[in-house]
Amino acid sequence: MLSNSLVELDRAHLVHPVASYRGHERAGVRVLKSAKGATVTDATGHQMIDGFAGLWCVNAGYGHESIVEAAARQMRELPYATGYFSLGSEPAIRLAAELADRAPGDLNHVYFTLGGSDAIDSTIRFIRYYYHSLGKPAKDQFISLEQGYHGSSTVGAGLTALPIFHAGFGVPLDWQHKIPTHYAYRNPVGSDPQAIIAASVAALRAKVEEIGADRAAAFYVEPIQGSGGVLVPPPGWMKAMRDVCTELDILFVADEVITGFGRTGPLFACSDEDIVPDLMTTAKGLTSGYVPMGAVFLSERVYQTIADGAGSAAIGHGYTYSAHPVSAAVGLEVLRLYENGLLENGVKAGARLMAGLHKLAAHPLVGDVRGRGMLAAIELVVDKERKTPLPAAADPSRRIFDRAWDNGLVIRAFGNGVLGYAPPLCCTDAEIDAIIDRTRRTLDQTLEDPDVR
Ligand code: PMP
Repeated sequence: MLSNSLVELDRAHLVHPVASYRGHERAGVRVLKSAKGATVTDATGHQMIDGFAGLWCVNAGYGHESIVEAAARQMRELPYATGYFSLGSEPAIRLAAELADRAPGDLNHVYFTLGGSDAIDSTIRFIRYYYHSLGKPAKDQFISLEQGYHGSSTVGAGLTALPIFHAGFGVPLDWQHKIPTHYAYRNPVGSDPQAIIAASVAALRAKVEEIGADRAAAFYVEPIQGSGGVLVPPPGWMKAMRDVCTELDILFVADEVITGFGRTGPLFACSDEDIVPDLMTTAKGLTSGYVPMGAVFLSERVYQTIADGAGSAAIGHGYTYSAHPVSAAVGLEVLRLYENGLLENGVKAGARLMAGLHKLAAHPLVGDVRGRGMLAAIELVVDKERKTPLPAAADPSRRIFDRAWDNGLVIRAFGNGVLGYAPPLCCTDAEIDAIIDRTRRTLDQTLEDPDVR
């Protein structure tokens, strides 16, 4: 029966995440077939460097036999164990302990999810329960940043601040608030770091005052905003925001779903600035995308307050696949690989990537270069002086993505002419150089395209 081509079957049956369904039907799927290291191969045999590590998740790179072995071993021995009824499995317990040992400050308690969106949803539930336990149930108002991304769950999508995640979905809800982000390249207060920090601090204070300190519950940040276009706050910004949250008695939540596990250098980006959040979310690099898993980290205060608040009653939050043993076994092996050279290589490769991208700053289309470690972006403009974006009507992102693909490079082309980079941490010098060269070729071709200029 399955005589149709994969493209036709896909068009007829597979609903894709975050896509124009009609646009996708027209374009057709591109099937990826195999991968090794930082190279992916499609069904036609075309090879590319994966400059985006899948969806900023395959931090370890593809094809690690030891990860496959860890999963297979666990599947043979015990493919599933519930965490309900006080049951558990060895890999989940060990992974929680290893992570707690490495997490900032006293983030000693780990709740495993299936990915980032349900990790964010879990924080919302934990935070509500926390204030309920403290006898302050009115503290139920949540604040996040413009251009932030915190997943696409029914409720969590309201903390996300990207319009396509809201329109038609009934979010944000009235308890979900936003403040302007730090976006240095296009900030009304200019690009001076101190002015940006002062503006963000003032905006958070003003928002808490507007909501009422007795109502404000938590503030969410990504250490570097990913899906908003890889927006890097100035040094000291995170610390300043953390300090205001402490002062205003609201919880500080660091969403490290992208930045965690070596993306910016260390295991957690919060370590770059010595920040200890009250809650922290991770996913993606936790298992390097080989199997799904996310993790919520809870501070001693948050965990103990919730535990005391519930007393002997069960806390009604959990999933069938919380702390899945196969995902945990993969997580343990991936962590071992990170600490046996991958993090170190990522730091070296990240410095080379940033240096290479900075060299592209002289290109007529490049308005801004930003990033840290193996997480970076260039922002394209048609007029550098005026920072004029590429004409949206020409769908430049799609064209640039396609050209890069043909040139042997997978990148993220955001709708606003921003090109995102998040290569696997295993990249060699030659692979990083090829990412830069192929980007340059793609930009030169774009410059020749009359519709995009
Ligand atoms: N938070 C951040 C910062 C993310 O980048 C993402 C995913 N890109 C999520 C949450 C949601 O994670 P998932 O797609 O695994 O649900």
